[in-house]
Amino acid sequence: MEPDVESLPRGGFRCRLCHVTAANQPSLQDHLQGKKHQRLESLRAKRQDQELRSVFVSGFHKGTSASELSEYFQAFGDVASVVMDKDKGVYAIVELQDQEVMEKVLAQPEHCLGGQRLRVKPREKKEFKYMPPKKQGSAHREQLSPEKLVQALCQADDVDSQMSQLVQLFELSESERRLRHLLVTLFQEVFSEFFPGCAILPFGSSVNGFDIHGCDLDLFLDLEKTKTFQASAKGPQGAQAEEEAGPGPDSDSEDSILSDIDLTTATVPEVLELVAAVLRKCVPGVHSVQAVPSARRPVVKFCHKDSGLLGDISINNRLALCNTRFLQLCTEADERVRPLVYALRYWAKQQALAGNPFGGGPLLNNYALTLLVLFFLQTRSPPVLPTLAQLRELTGDGDQAIVDGWDCSFPQDTSRLEPSTNTESLCSLLAEFFRVFGDHDFAGCVISLKEGRALPLPSFLLSEVGAKLKLGPFNVQDPFELSHNVAANVNEKIALRFQHCCRDGAKYCRSLQYQRKSSKGKAWGLVRLFQPGVPEAGELGPDGLLITIPFTLMALSPGSRQQLCQARDFRRCWFDKVCAAVTFVLKDVLKCSCTGPAGEPLGQEPTEQGGGEQPIVGSKHPRSDEGGSLAVSPAKKKPRAEGPAPEEEESVSWSCAVWHRVWMGRRRIRRQLRHLGSPQPDAEQEAGSLEVEEKVSEAIIQQEGDSMGSEPLLRFTACAQVGSGQEDTRTLLCFTPGPQQGLLFQDFYHFLQGFLPRMVERYVGRAARGRQ
Ligand code: ATP
Ligand code: MG
Repeated sequence: MEPDVESLPRGGFRCRLCHVTAANQPSLQDHLQGKKHQRLESLRAKRQDQELRSVFVSGFHKGTSASELSEYFQAFGDVASVVMDKDKGVYAIVELQDQEVMEKVLAQPEHCLGGQRLRVKPREKKEFKYMPPKKQGSAHREQLSPEKLVQALCQADDVDSQMSQLVQLFELSESERRLRHLLVTLFQEVFSEFFPGCAILPFGSSVNGFDIHGCDLDLFLDLEKTKTFQASAKGPQGAQAEEEAGPGPDSDSEDSILSDIDLTTATVPEVLELVAAVLRKCVPGVHSVQAVPSARRPVVKFCHKDSGLLGDISINNRLALCNTRFLQLCTEADERVRPLVYALRYWAKQQALAGNPFGGGPLLNNYALTLLVLFFLQTRSPPVLPTLAQLRELTGDGDQAIVDGWDCSFPQDTSRLEPSTNTESLCSLLAEFFRVFGDHDFAGCVISLKEGRALPLPSFLLSEVGAKLKLGPFNVQDPFELSHNVAANVNEKIALRFQHCCRDGAKYCRSLQYQRKSSKGKAWGLVRLFQPGVPEAGELGPDGLLITIPFTLMALSPGSRQQLCQARDFRRCWFDKVCAAVTFVLKDVLKCSCTGPAGEPLGQEPTEQGGGEQPIVGSKHPRSDEGGSLAVSPAKKKPRAEGPAPEEEESVSWSCAVWHRVWMGRRRIRRQLRHLGSPQPDAEQEAGSLEVEEKVSEAIIQQEGDSMGSEPLLRFTACAQVGSGQEDTRTLLCFTPGPQQGLLFQDFYHFLQGFLPRMVERYVGRAARGRQ
């Protein structure tokens, strides 16, 4: 057998030289005699022969040329070639005419060139390895390297031109567009054979104006007419239906795929499998076909081999056609829309905040991020874009549309739209975006593009669509499917990070580095903004370190949620709940001692005497909001007035002492407790529950040994306030460490950043359930 060939365990052969497998002996023979194998064999022979005649030379002066080296070695015989290393001047491979010359060279004990002693040794023998050319479809070929992007952007004159440049660098080229068009035509032809009257309609980024090299190809297979056609073949009024659907192929034909399935009664997975079968068997150049029936919008995924394009076909996504057209209309309505969206999409991708990873995940998807930018443009003064409600008023008779029960009417072209009178530059719009969303209460309201404003949660939740919308830490209402939160997948961590990154962005945009081109060739403008960010661990508030507790209404049971929404001053009700929870977490869960007699002015040092600072171990959930022990009552800056007073700047403060390193090794102890304890129905839930966390702290304290009576490890004050905006529902907790606690406090604070919001949410949820 050929030395390059190995037989495979499950039959067949593999040619190691060419990385080719053959199913049987005859096809192996074909391969071995074929052009590719012959070419690689002779290439390998040539390389091996060259290796046997070459020497590896180093030690010469930097800057020595290939011809100087060649001249030197010619004293021993003919030199076939000299190959210098890439950086020129570190080493060279000198290929001699034959082995005899090489031996002469190696026989000489010393070589000198230009006063430098050369090191000359035989060339290492390397196994010949064929590297198949990387399979790069045109989808990837045109992708831009980060270096090129930086170079191009730094050359622009100002931020506005950087942003316009961005669009040119990212958007699909003419040839990419043509390719997509050809593919759509090919799909249409093939699918029409099997599904008479069907339409293949592209949507998403290939057509919505936010295209980018290599973006996926989203297709909608519209089977409405095919259904009519199928019914016509069966039903008595067939002739009329056929007239409407147009002529189809012979429906009696035996191989018609439609004879196997009734489209009106078939389930979604059944139709998807059929679509997948057509893709697999009948569309040339398509591979990796996979039906994903479980997705919110079920699809069949595929890959197109030559272009490297990834795509999916959905069968019940008519709303996506509408929102695609809406996005497109926005790009046509104002020329600032595209550059702004491109800049923000790239920024968010670099900060790992947004993107469309396969299989979802907690990041904002590109569609949701785009809607956020459009919303921002609707809310400028004067607005850059109209709201959907305004667009609806401009809709002509022919453009009225109801899709899946939702009103999707808006003008199909921009001729009915008044141009915007807003004159803000791209540079300032971008800075404003960061400023606005750096301080937006994402969890406490729903962003509505229909109305062009953020809807406060309580009243929204009482509405019909509000009751159905899945709330989360980031709420963006789909402009058409009003009960759908397009950012429902975003988790708390990403929502918080989005806000942090916006604040960082806003801060950077105020600097001269953003606003002015660097005359010294330094990174400026968008370039610095696009540098991948290390998420900021903490944020310095005016008086210290800040932790934001979001408005996690969904933690409440439906009953208490309703109650809270109807409360006259729901912000204060929520704030009270959060404060009670913070007290509980600090004192009972983390076993800190907290003092702060009611009425004590904020900022006053905690009283040093009295038993107030003794750690309280194992106490049973005192309810501070019901006037529990004085030691845990938060101090109020202002005594509470009767009745609602939304303008009232109320704050609550705690003075705390931490006696043990309760923030360290919690995971390990949690695991140990789980092993020791009785099996729980839901281990995950149990692991995070308040009771378990209390036990974890107790275990840590026990391990550390009792240190009662000695000085605490840390002292700090925490001050809670409602967020500053008119309708802000967040609770801002500002931490100020006692003097000289440096690194130890930082560790504790980093731990609290994740732990406290999570535990507060649990406490609030539990308290609400307990009350029912
Ligand atoms: P890209 O593919 O470049 O990331 P895209 O806009 O095509 O951007 P996809 O995730 O491919 O984004 O989604 C395609 C289309 O599907 C979107 O344009 C939108 O019409 C619709 N879509 C995507 N995500 C959602 C969502 N969460 N809710 C509603 N519609 C969505
Ligand atoms: Mg897409």
